[in-house]
Amino acid sequence: MIISPKVRGFICVTAHPDGCKKNVLEQISYVNSQKKITDSPRKVLIIGSSTGYGLASRIVASFGSEADTIGIYFERPEMDGKLASAGFYNARALDEFSRTEGRLSESINGDAFSDAVKGETIALIREKCGKIDCIIYSLASPRRTDPVSGETYKSVLKPIGASFSGKTVNTDTEQILEISIDPATELEIEATCKVMGGEDWERWVDQLLAADVLAEGLKTCAYSYIGPEVTWPIYANGTIGKAKEHLEQSAKNIQNKLKKLQGEAIISVNKAVVTQASSAIPVVPLYNSILFKIMKQKGIHEGCIEQMYRLFSSHFDANRDELGRNRLDNLEMRDDVQREVKEIWPRISTENLRELSDFEGYRQDFLRLFGFEVAGVDYGKDMEIA
Ligand code: NAD
Repeated sequence: MIISPKVRGFICVTAHPDGCKKNVLEQISYVNSQKKITDSPRKVLIIGSSTGYGLASRIVASFGSEADTIGIYFERPEMDGKLASAGFYNARALDEFSRTEGRLSESINGDAFSDAVKGETIALIREKCGKIDCIIYSLASPRRTDPVSGETYKSVLKPIGASFSGKTVNTDTEQILEISIDPATELEIEATCKVMGGEDWERWVDQLLAADVLAEGLKTCAYSYIGPEVTWPIYANGTIGKAKEHLEQSAKNIQNKLKKLQGEAIISVNKAVVTQASSAIPVVPLYNSILFKIMKQKGIHEGCIEQMYRLFSSHFDANRDELGRNRLDNLEMRDDVQREVKEIWPRISTENLRELSDFEGYRQDFLRLFGFEVAGVDYGKDMEIA
């Protein structure tokens, strides 16, 4: 089979196994080019480990800290001659590369929100790994079934209190459009918190604690985003922002529960990057395109892997703010960077999109998520699919 990209809005329904593998290898090479991280966690559980920030976390843990890792993700495997999702190919490649280096690298492909997968993980930790000393929580999902009530909640990306009207880019047609989004209902806000808040993170910690598979001094870290004013109505002040507030409250609850292990629950506020999750948020692809141009010009652009190397190599103590959060978004939020975003934002139009922003960089990053446009990959090769 010759595999080419089939983009449908903010998702690409095909993925290239060799391209995904090469992406993973490039991230490993970056980590290998940096200083080894010492005194770092030795046994790391990454929940949401197949793409984006979770994948980069796992790569840094495995190659930067030489830790054993267990990864949890929810991806479509190859089946009946049909392609797998990109995350499946990423995870498969990472297991292969890590094991070649003699590191434990075990994966579970299933619904992390379920108690069944939590139980499977506990069994795997006991059998193969021994006590975990770090848990990374990096899930991004449109829905979650509550294991207690059986109810399925769907998250929405909407403003709260008032409609939002603003600029966005149609990434297929490269047109700048005005969009208008109605405010979320109370039920939608609640559902988004159920999916993207911290309830499930806390449930993971509760069950792992009860099973006595967490080590003294355990650190657990979940990821958040704040961003600039142009994205606030849809992000920080919207439904997803509410869910992130919930996540931060969960960090406090977890911190209390970890006292007996002298552990720590940490929030890391990361930079805006191109991932499957962020591509689905209105306004964000346009903001990213502008931001990347500015950050590249200033020589301070970072992707997931650079961010996660910074987090792990700081021992989760990177530029903490007054609320104790790691601020890996410090370069993105620099005054000079945000001043330039603000200056470009009202001027950007379909005609000058490629001149005033790095839309080309955004487009390439997006396709690379699915293993396309990766240098050195033979896209004319006939690929065998199981
Ligand atoms: P992503 O879409 O790249 O990754 C999501 C991961 O979650 C994948 O590994 C996927 O398999 C897994 N997943 C989803 N549903 C699952 C389920 N039911 N069971 C098991 N695994 C499941 O997303 P991302 O952008 O890397 O986001 C990860 C975290 O980082 C999120 O909390 C997000 O808010 C945060 N963050 C993202 C950005 C950004 O710009 N992308 C910035 C700051 C913070």
